[in-house]
Amino acid sequence: MTEGDKRMHPIRFPEFEIEVIRKRIRRINLHVTPEKVWMSIPYRVSRESAEQFARMHRDWILKQRAQLVRLPAEQGTPVADGMQLRLWGQTLRLYIVHGDGAPGLHKEAEALYLTVPQGAGDAQSQALLHHWFRGELEQALPGVCARWEAVTGRRALGYYIRDMKTRWGSCSLKTGRICINQRLIHEEPACLDYVMAHELTHLYVPNHGPDFWRLMDRFYPNWREIRRKMRK
Ligand SMILES: [Zn+2]
Repeated sequence: MTEGDKRMHPIRFPEFEIEVIRKRIRRINLHVTPEKVWMSIPYRVSRESAEQFARMHRDWILKQRAQLVRLPAEQGTPVADGMQLRLWGQTLRLYIVHGDGAPGLHKEAEALYLTVPQGAGDAQSQALLHHWFRGELEQALPGVCARWEAVTGRRALGYYIRDMKTRWGSCSLKTGRICINQRLIHEEPACLDYVMAHELTHLYVPNHGPDFWRLMDRFYPNWREIRRKMRK
C-alpha cells in the first residue's frame, strides 16, 4: 500500500476471494499468487465494474491457481488432510494417516497417503512430502536425460536437482552440468522435456539467438506451446 491507496471490501467467490485496492493507476491489474489474489483498480472504476471484471476472469484465476499449486511449505500453509497437490501435472488429494506404519508416502490412483506417527508435527509431514516428490523426480531423471541426449546428440557431464525460484533449469558451459528445478515434478512431463531439450541445446549455442531456436525447432518442434505454458 502506498500513499493514496484505499483498501475496499474483498470480492468473494466460493473458491477464493480477491483483495481490492483503489490506486492512482490507469487500468485494472489482477495478480494471482499461491497465497492470494488481489486487484488494483483506478479510482474512476466503479465497484460494479470491478466485480464484473472479476467475474469475467474467474476461470482464468482458477486455472492460474491450479498451476501454482506447490508443496504446502512453498505455499506457506501447513500439511492438511484433503489438500490438493500436483504430481506431473496431475492433481492428487492428500490423505493423512496417523498410525504405527512406517512414515512415508504411498500413491494410489489420484490419492496420496501420508503416514505419520501419532502426534507428528507439521515439519515432519513437510519433510516427508518434500523428500517423496524429490525422489519421484530423481527416479524419472535418468530416463528423460537419456532420451533427450539421444535426440540432441549432446551429453551433459552431469545433472543435479535444485529448488530455484526464478528458473526452470540452467546449464553451465564451464562444467557441462545441467541443473533442473525440482518444482518440475509438479508440472506436466512435457515441461521437464522442454527444459531438458533447452539446456542440452545450450551445449551447441550458449545464447538464445536465432541459431538456438532453429535447433530447438528440430529437437522439440512443440517448444513454443510448452514455453508459453511455463511462462504463466
Ligand atoms: Zn536458455
